[in-house]
Amino acid sequence: MLEISEVKFRTQDSARKFIRELLKDYGSGRRIGRGDPGHKFLSGLLARHPDHGAVDPDAFKVQPNYMGDLELAFEHGGQSVVFSYNTAIRARKRGNELERAMRQAALNDVLSARNAFTGGICDLCGAPITGSQATHVDHVVQFSELKKNFLRDWSGDIPTKFHTDPQRGGFIAFIEADYDFETSWMEYHNKKAVLRVVHDKCNLKRSRFYGE
Ligand SMILES: [Zn+2]
Repeated sequence: MLEISEVKFRTQDSARKFIRELLKDYGSGRRIGRGDPGHKFLSGLLARHPDHGAVDPDAFKVQPNYMGDLELAFEHGGQSVVFSYNTAIRARKRGNELERAMRQAALNDVLSARNAFTGGICDLCGAPITGSQATHVDHVVQFSELKKNFLRDWSGDIPTKFHTDPQRGGFIAFIEADYDFETSWMEYHNKKAVLRVVHDKCNLKRSRFYGE
């Protein structure tokens, strides 16, 4: 399963097919600006791309490649850059595992914040949090931002292999070879993450991505 801007696909192939059809529908030469509904979807696609994930593009363009097939370019700061939607589709799997392992490694901080909470006001809605309400430990600077900054400054290898255990559902952990990465990330998260307890429903409104 993969998800691109709230559109869910069962397989990578079905995502590829969907995008090919989309490009055909738009047609060669079409520019997709910020006001176009397709801009959001294509931005979600680009966000998965390992080289361009941090770009906030002004527009996308459908154009023919040297083979005559339709390809995608994004425009940013007056430049037009061709990117492979195929790479973007394939890339996220690794990213997802990395993100899950990083969340797992940061869990102690989250649990400590929850344990330390003895009641108070929800920062997001300003109402008190009562004992019967579902709460969530929220990252004030969002988790994705912390992760991005850490990865930007990390000069070693980025983990691509993980311990998983099909018997334990979503269990994931770093392997021994990535011990340095893991401990550095845990220290970074412990130092940088500002955590607060908020209403679960308020947190869901804050971000489309549950848990951020
Ligand atoms: Zn609230």
